[in-house]
Amino acid sequence: MDDTITAISTALGVGAISIIRVSGNEAISIVNSITKTKKIENSLSHTIHYDHIIDGEKVIDEVLISVMRTPKTFTREDVVEINAHGGIATTNRILELLLHSGCRLAEPGEFTKRAFLNGRIDLTQAEGVIDLINSKTEKARTLAINQVNGKVSNLIRGLRQEIIEILANIEVNIDYPEYEDIEEITNKHILDKISNIESKIRTILKESENSKLIKEGISTSIIGRPNVGKSSLLNKLIGEDKAIVTEIEGTTRDIVEGTISIDGIILNIVDTAGIRKTDDIVESIGVKKSLELIDKSDLILYVLNNNEEISKDDLEILSKLEDKNHIIIINKNDLENKLDVSKLNSDYIIKTSAVTDKGIEELKDKIKEIFNLEQIETDDMSYLTNARSIAILKHTLDSVEEVKKGLSNNLPIDMIEINIKEIWNLLGEIIGETYQEELLDQLFSQFCLGK
Ligand code: GDP
Repeated sequence: MDDTITAISTALGVGAISIIRVSGNEAISIVNSITKTKKIENSLSHTIHYDHIIDGEKVIDEVLISVMRTPKTFTREDVVEINAHGGIATTNRILELLLHSGCRLAEPGEFTKRAFLNGRIDLTQAEGVIDLINSKTEKARTLAINQVNGKVSNLIRGLRQEIIEILANIEVNIDYPEYEDIEEITNKHILDKISNIESKIRTILKESENSKLIKEGISTSIIGRPNVGKSSLLNKLIGEDKAIVTEIEGTTRDIVEGTISIDGIILNIVDTAGIRKTDDIVESIGVKKSLELIDKSDLILYVLNNNEEISKDDLEILSKLEDKNHIIIINKNDLENKLDVSKLNSDYIIKTSAVTDKGIEELKDKIKEIFNLEQIETDDMSYLTNARSIAILKHTLDSVEEVKKGLSNNLPIDMIEINIKEIWNLLGEIIGETYQEELLDQLFSQFCLGK
């Protein structure tokens, strides 16, 4: 980390301003060497300077240069940001000059990686930065900024503190059994504390389920026989003509994906019409394929035609929906009723017409009801938002279980202590107190260049 890194931090393309960022011991002197006035070398921290970038005698651009000296910077190193005129040629030329003057091109996410390695942020905060950049809705943004600001880290640190207290108590009892004024640590005492920690972990895990919905959206499949109106309904929900609607059965060949936002939660919709094989004479995506999709989706919209009788295949698939989040949509309600509703056994039936728009709003309300979307408040949220942390947290429950088993079997305290320490270590992995190099590489490679 001794070298000085640089990268273009703004999106490449034509824009009013581009920012080229430099971080490292030599950041200020290298940038100084390519300025016309050579003034920034002695400038105070957190100041902005008007100057020109030059290559020999040649003026490359008129710029504003921000100088931020260690330690109060994003990377905790000296950081310089050059605000240049936007545009590919100018920005690339300045970057090239910096590379020739002693900087190395930063890897994706390397500035944030340095912030982590220099102890400015922990791993959950770094992961929050990725989420913040990728957030597409206001709710996802709130969740991410809470993580960047350390709300999640504090939650995990709090749990670790409680574990440390139990461990300290155990140590004192082991090392100084003769001290009478020390509270004797009993199995019951440890069990109470561990159970309390366990219930906190379970609450975090439960609430973290919502974070997946907020971050990634609800993966939704529209399933049903051809021509029942799946694409038409999808168009109504998305509000644009993305899916192709045809009179001829089986002509929607591509999987149409679209997103709609309901109260700030994204629904990622797949119209399964396109999954049908071209040579499928049964003209159905098939029971097997439907069941596979049902398994993978958070929500299934099963569409029937009010103007047709329910088929055997329909009934077979519908019987598998009971344990899944689903809505049965009876479409084409503007046409004569030939479908026997009494054959359907579900509390989630909506009658629609893609022609008259009947039931479309009711459908959206039903989706909100199923996922409790009205209840999801983001301001105070400090859920774990990524699969890595959630997997580790689930893993801590195994160690909690071991501790409880050990206590009830009256195992020696130092054996129980091993599992308590394991909980402490695992929680430390979440915030990056312990980490493996590959994990860092994998994590920071998800960032864009210049971040
Ligand atoms: P898919 O194969 O299930 O995706 O069905 P489409 O959305 O392509 O619709 C097939 C045909 O049914 C098209 O001609 C649509 O215009 C028509 N259709 C779709 N929804 C309705 C509806 O609610 N009422 C009526 N009368 N026709 C509909």
